[in-house]
Amino acid sequence: MNFPKDFIDRVSADGFLGAELLTALNTEPPVSIRLNPHKTKPVLAFSDSIKWCLNAWYLEARPQFTLDPLFHAGCYYPQEAGSMVLDSVLRQLDLTDAPKILDLCAAPGGKSTLIASFLGNKGLLVSNEVIQSRARVLKENLTKWGYSNTVVSNNDPRDFDRLPHFFDVIVADAPCSGEGMFRKDLASRDEWSTDNVQICAARQKRIVSDVWEALRPGGFFIYSTCTFNEQENEQNVLFMKEELGAEIVDIDLPSPIQPGRNEIGNYCIPGKTESEGFYIAVLKKADGKEKNSKWTTKKDVRPMKSNEEIERFSFSEGIDFYQWNEKILALPYVEATAMMHVLSQLRIVKFGTLIGEMQRKGIQPHEELALNPFLLNYDQTIELDKDAALNFLRGDTFTLLGEVGYTIITHKGQALGWIKHLGNRFNNLYPKDWRIRMRP
Ligand code: SAM
Repeated sequence: MNFPKDFIDRVSADGFLGAELLTALNTEPPVSIRLNPHKTKPVLAFSDSIKWCLNAWYLEARPQFTLDPLFHAGCYYPQEAGSMVLDSVLRQLDLTDAPKILDLCAAPGGKSTLIASFLGNKGLLVSNEVIQSRARVLKENLTKWGYSNTVVSNNDPRDFDRLPHFFDVIVADAPCSGEGMFRKDLASRDEWSTDNVQICAARQKRIVSDVWEALRPGGFFIYSTCTFNEQENEQNVLFMKEELGAEIVDIDLPSPIQPGRNEIGNYCIPGKTESEGFYIAVLKKADGKEKNSKWTTKKDVRPMKSNEEIERFSFSEGIDFYQWNEKILALPYVEATAMMHVLSQLRIVKFGTLIGEMQRKGIQPHEELALNPFLLNYDQTIELDKDAALNFLRGDTFTLLGEVGYTIITHKGQALGWIKHLGNRFNNLYPKDWRIRMRP
């Protein structure tokens, strides 16, 4: 049991967590996934469903996700079960039909894909990650999940003061000391120290204070970590209550998820809950006068009339097209003005659904289009079996008969990406940085 000594001493003295936590942290972690309700269901060995999240399952064993084409198609997201409590929390909040939600610390995208499914193509998700390389992974995961009402940004929390009172909900899944990951991620044991707990707690206070202005009066703030200590959890919630004037909101979660110390927030604790460690609390910003700042727009993003070429892609209703230099974007028209305002204030990595780029010979379609289940009814497709699909995902090209032109590769009916078909061979357009290297 190679846990840091200070951690063992603290947990042993802390009657709240229970000594069985240390034993549980040395057992095999459960494996769980959340399904994308708008895509094909994968063929995996499902065991029980997860009772605090829709469309979520434990698996009997850990498969090689990388070697399953449907994983790359965004049909499911492997996510540890504790984090999925966010679904129950969101469903209990008194929200409008189409809320604007900020996921502030979002990479690699577990909570963001959950929020996107919760919104179900209504409202707006701004999914932010401050570290650029991690923002790229977040973009990939949200592209594969496939919704148009999504923006990915790469900003520091303090940049959100440019969007005062803009969001109905802010989720801050804060960087933390990671005690709840000691089982799954052995490196987190080495990185842990009592000093680091203090550093994390101070950073978390800074993050929540910096972003607070972006929450509208009466809006909800969801604070979470994957750690067990009081400083980073209950004490930070009390800080938000005392320093930011927030009200703590009670949330009803099924047992064995348990209330936090002094009933502040809720915990998933390995050994009690079939999950890793997770803490979640909800706060409400006091009602008050909303700042009515004027929404700005990006002048170089212009509405565009649909034309014959775009119509080939046969879009669902409620989508408008915009042109941004050579890029053609699809945005849900109800949210387009709000999205434009976000675009004008933040550093954007992904914006709505990028249909493609205007080129001399027409539109070169983009992978965001292929992977969006709401937009496309494009009939030039080729179905590949698992081995051929994996070769496509590796970026290979091989002999394949078909009609000349842009063609979507599918596996079990689910789009994976584009090729440019030349008749009996093709150019593989699968993005270079998404290509898989693993061979069976
Ligand atoms: N929500 C993510 C998910 O469900 O997949 C996991 C987020 S992880 C717990 C915390 C994230 O906060 C990391 O991606 C990290 O890069 C980011 N982060 C690190 N320092 C930060 C800071 N000072 N402000 C905001 N985010 C930060």
